[in-house]
Amino acid sequence: MQLIDGKAAASQWIEETQARVNMRLSQGKPAPHLAAIIVGTDGASQTYVNNKIKACKNAGIDSTLITLPADIQEHELLHHIDDLNANPRISGFIVQLPLPKHINERTIITRIKPEKDVDGFHPQNIGKMVLQHPTLISATPLGILRLLNHYNIETSGKHCVILGRSAIVGKPLSILLSQNSKPGNCTVTLCHSKTPDLKSYTLSADILICAIGIPEYISSDMVQAKTVVIDVGTTRVTDLKQKKGYRLCGDVNFNSVAPHCKAITPVPGGVGPMTIAALLHNTLEASEQHV
Ligand code: NAP
Repeated sequence: MQLIDGKAAASQWIEETQARVNMRLSQGKPAPHLAAIIVGTDGASQTYVNNKIKACKNAGIDSTLITLPADIQEHELLHHIDDLNANPRISGFIVQLPLPKHINERTIITRIKPEKDVDGFHPQNIGKMVLQHPTLISATPLGILRLLNHYNIETSGKHCVILGRSAIVGKPLSILLSQNSKPGNCTVTLCHSKTPDLKSYTLSADILICAIGIPEYISSDMVQAKTVVIDVGTTRVTDLKQKKGYRLCGDVNFNSVAPHCKAITPVPGGVGPMTIAALLHNTLEASEQHV
């Protein structure tokens, strides 16, 4: 079994981004600038957004964190988005999801200027991705493509089984990996909660990508020796032995699956760091569109 080290791959990617940022600076261009809006005080969201903001420094990217109260009205949040859209110093920005229930996520995401949508969630960017036009691609799928490339994992002609059809992970990945590209050219099966006999699909996977958010759902009897397992799941599970009182848990039972499969990503240290590196890459790409 090969351990797919997302931390190491992300660190190399961030170094490459930093080198490109330095090149920009040496040409007298401004550093890329990422802004992040967080609404409310959800612990997991705060951790994710803080990690993204902290990582900017490593790539030489400027950052701004905008923290807004949970009871902010939708029109007020839209006002912040309009400000960031109009601010020439901001290369790109994200609105950390999920948002409080009284705010319509679709309205918010659609208001972000597509050129500044470094999360790649805007319908225009998703449409371009489907048509293989150059665009900003969602950070987690982009990070997974890069990880497969980094580890020279062959995708062409392989059967890729994806669990979970969210608009931010499963669905875009199913499109990207089935395209005529590298990585790509997979035959993709996209499974969800209504898929009967999930095991019959997971057992036929050359590449198994799990993004369902159910801790340790995938056990060793669901995976074959030929399978490369990419675990996207990150659920906080109570663990009083940890200082924080919880640990991050993937969708795959790592200890039982790892000895039986070809390669596997750990949680944490697999897809998570690649998502952050992809966001920094997208911020740089967005800044190159501006100047
Ligand atoms: P999501 O919106 O939480 O949706 C879960 C998906 O899993 C749905 O499509 C659901 O099917 C499917 N599902 C649920 N139970 C299932 C089952 N028993 N068998 C097969 N499919 C099942 O998805 P998400 O936002 O992509 O998040 C998934 C996980 O990835 C979460 O743990 C999240 O925290 C993590 N995540 C990690 C990163 C990272 O950077 N590491 C980034 C994004 C997300 P239906 O559509 O039928 O309901």
